[in-house]
Amino acid sequence: MSKFTFVAALLVAALVCLASSERVSGAEYLTGIQWAEPAVIDPGPPGGPPSDAVVLFDGKDMSKWNNAEQWIVKDGYVEAAPGAPTTKDVFGDCQLHVEWASATEVKGTSQGRSNSGVFLMGIYEVQVLDSYDNKTYFDGQCGAIYKQHPPLVNACRKPGEWQTYDIIWKGPRFDADGKLVSPAFITVLHNGVVVQNNFQLLGDTPFNRPPEYKPHPDKGPISLQYHGNPVRFRNIWIRELQEVASERVSEPTVVK
Ligand code: MG
Repeated sequence: MSKFTFVAALLVAALVCLASSERVSGAEYLTGIQWAEPAVIDPGPPGGPPSDAVVLFDGKDMSKWNNAEQWIVKDGYVEAAPGAPTTKDVFGDCQLHVEWASATEVKGTSQGRSNSGVFLMGIYEVQVLDSYDNKTYFDGQCGAIYKQHPPLVNACRKPGEWQTYDIIWKGPRFDADGKLVSPAFITVLHNGVVVQNNFQLLGDTPFNRPPEYKPHPDKGPISLQYHGNPVRFRNIWIRELQEVASERVSEPTVVK
């Protein structure tokens, strides 16, 4: 055994003794916070919906949406057509699951290939596009926050294959005077791969001007984009996210 290895072994042994002695001493850190019990839910099958989700589209009808009259429901999916479906209900911070498929028959290039979008609060677009072997500007490709931030990687499946978006959304907050207090943050998993990692939005996501924040309520609808292409959607559900209730009942302490 070298001198170095011997010293390292001594150090490890000392740390193990220290950890053990803490357990033996019975010391415990108490946070002083009393938490409500987290709700028990059934996570459901892979792809959900979990038992506490609001199902926005189950493959049968678009009754939870306005402006969806022309969208075509068949075979368990809905296909984009003129109109911008917008949920009748509004949502705040949330987890949103959307499954979509680009057209099986490849038509068009760049932004013209299976373009659609998922809008949080009806304002902030996560781009839907067939980005499989289809170059376009990077902050407009599949999984981009439109005109703000490209996806971290291109995780697009082949045309016609079903794909998933799992979106975690924290909406912006405005004060009573309409001043921005906290910007929006978004995390997006595309086919299970993180493509937006808590990205801080610069504002809304229009095509023709820089992003900006305009005051709006803490809750808004989900909407889908029609961009002239027959993109399909299925299995859309949402869970509003709320912090677990808590109360400080005492100062943090270490008891022995
Ligand atoms: Mg789009």
